[in-house]
Amino acid sequence: MFGATQQQENNQPVLAARDIYKSFGDLQVLKGVSLDAYRGDVISILGSSGSGKSTFLRCINLLERPESGDIILNGESLLFKNGRYGREAADKKQLARFRTNLAMVFQSFNLWSHLTIMENMIEAPIQVLKLKKADAIDRAQALLTKVGMLEKSNHYPIQLSGGQQQRVAIARALMMNPEVLLFDEPTSALDPELVGEVLKIMKDIALEGSTMIIVTHELAFAREVSDQIIFLHQGKIEEAGTPHQFFHETQSERVKQFLSNNL
Ligand code: ADP
Ligand code: MG
Repeated sequence: MFGATQQQENNQPVLAARDIYKSFGDLQVLKGVSLDAYRGDVISILGSSGSGKSTFLRCINLLERPESGDIILNGESLLFKNGRYGREAADKKQLARFRTNLAMVFQSFNLWSHLTIMENMIEAPIQVLKLKKADAIDRAQALLTKVGMLEKSNHYPIQLSGGQQQRVAIARALMMNPEVLLFDEPTSALDPELVGEVLKIMKDIALEGSTMIIVTHELAFAREVSDQIIFLHQGKIEEAGTPHQFFHETQSERVKQFLSNNL
């Protein structure tokens, strides 16, 4: 949101993905995808359905294991070779640290249905970060206030609209104080009238300087908040650049086609 990419070229990225390859059986889904996220960057990943966007995000936060490539968080690298971690040091603690620092918000909210909103908020911070319950509740109240959901603390997810559930899911991701927030089409499952409230929360978070990687079909939103836009086509980066470059200067026929279908 602050053009951090341009300003910080001498610093190391918070998160880098280098030359990520991933197949499912015979299907090669990612063919050398890379990305550098500097602190405060908002990076939007666009592309048609099936182009590999979700797989790339899932590789970044290790829900999928890349075949080869590297994921680097604050200079700490997990090198992948032949679908294995290239370093002995990729122990459970290191993986847990990566996962905690790369919080993901999913299309389908993924709140725990048998827990109240407050319980959803404090579960992982208490279990994983070993926060004291009272501290976790304090933090949860502050974050629920921020997303306008404090009054629903004692409700269950099913009692909330999709937009409200997604706002809680975003607040829950923030509970972990992650280095990078990952979003996989966070508004795609919402009724159209509920999309705006979720995008507004995401914009607020971006304005506060969070580092965010967002898979989205909301082109106007991507244009407004992104520092970088990456367009995936069949598992490769077809185009990458600033929103201005992407929307106005692309030479790619595929991107032009995508824009004319989606704008
Ligand atoms: P996008 O998010 O851009 O729509 P995905 O990353 O979900 O694309 O999927 C890219 C391709 O990989 C698709 O052809 C999809 O069917 C395939 N794919 C994704 N996940 C799996 C999986 N777990 N097993 C087999 N194929 C998969
Ligand atoms: Mg997807």
